[in-house]
Amino acid sequence: VSNPNRDRLVRRLAELVATPSENPPGNEAACGELVARHLDEAGLEVEIHEAEPGRPNIVARLRGEPGPTLTYCSHIDVVPAGDPSLWSYEPFGAVVADNMMYGRGTSDAKGPVMAAIEAATSLAESGWRPRGTLELALVADEETMGFKGTGYLVEKNILNPDVAIVGEPTSLRVVRAQRGAYWIRLITRGLAAHGSAPERGRNAILHMAEILQHLPEAVPDMTHELLGGPTIGVGTIRGGEKVNVVAASCVAEIDRRTIPGETRESVIEGLQRAIDRAKGRFSDIDAQIELAFAGEPFEVGPDAAIVREVSGALSEVTGQDPQVIGFRGASDARFLAEAGADVVVWGPGDIGLAHTAREAIDLTELELGAAAYALAFQRLLGPPPD
Ligand SMILES: [Zn+2]
Repeated sequence: VSNPNRDRLVRRLAELVATPSENPPGNEAACGELVARHLDEAGLEVEIHEAEPGRPNIVARLRGEPGPTLTYCSHIDVVPAGDPSLWSYEPFGAVVADNMMYGRGTSDAKGPVMAAIEAATSLAESGWRPRGTLELALVADEETMGFKGTGYLVEKNILNPDVAIVGEPTSLRVVRAQRGAYWIRLITRGLAAHGSAPERGRNAILHMAEILQHLPEAVPDMTHELLGGPTIGVGTIRGGEKVNVVAASCVAEIDRRTIPGETRESVIEGLQRAIDRAKGRFSDIDAQIELAFAGEPFEVGPDAAIVREVSGALSEVTGQDPQVIGFRGASDARFLAEAGADVVVWGPGDIGLAHTAREAIDLTELELGAAAYALAFQRLLGPPPD
């Protein structure tokens, strides 16, 4: 049995929070060095993979007998602190008050990162060896879509997880389903004409406005027990050149969130349906759909080993029944799900405080997180049941 060392955990988290890694611009090098050193000292095999110079992804492994690979993945980059005057405590001060540590990244996700390092360190110190491989991937670039972080590691086959835990602040609730996100550019093309004679042109802005009216019809009437329904929204719109010119083009950016069961094809078909309906009013609409970003939804069944063992570890550590939930946002978990792993998102910290000037983590929850991580690693990579 391993015992996380609370003093070491809190001290190391303070040091990591005090080492800024704001993204953008994405300067994770110093944080990467710090976590690599901890993992090396704990006796793990450490590799550093960079998709871009100065943007390290740390991959550390503890290998044992042949068996499955459990990948724990979390991120060392943080969103920018923003205006320091909005903070009650220094954004990189890691101030502790009333059992909370304050600062950018305490919850999202340096707290989960340090809880996992403490779990692996205490396990290695206790002499435990996995049946299989415990793999920690502490990555850059998560806050700007993850293509140079987890996306890169999966694309290059550096990570090959059978099961995976993605460390994000979930208040230790277990996320076993996540919505997908599609960012789509809708483009309408019209015909410019003098503003005094609009009948000689085709107004791309009016065409876009009509399509946007029909956007709700692009979303299927479905619902998921943990995720609720899919959604659609318009984030930006730009069109026209000048007040006295009929607008020749218009571009709207659409944020479409999907649930399991929807596909890339069905998303595009839905948008095409909205365009077709708009043609009921303007038969000469010329519209184009461009997919700028696609992240797929995923879910793991409630009886999957990853859900069972993580839940078991949690109830053993906290004495309470764990909450299993869905996540309506997106995370790096999508890359690991696309790589074929059963994945849950799970960690200490409060997502409601993440990205705010009040970001903090409860130190008792942090310590429970480290203990629960250690137990989950042991359960998932333990001896087979008799
Ligand atoms: Zn995060």
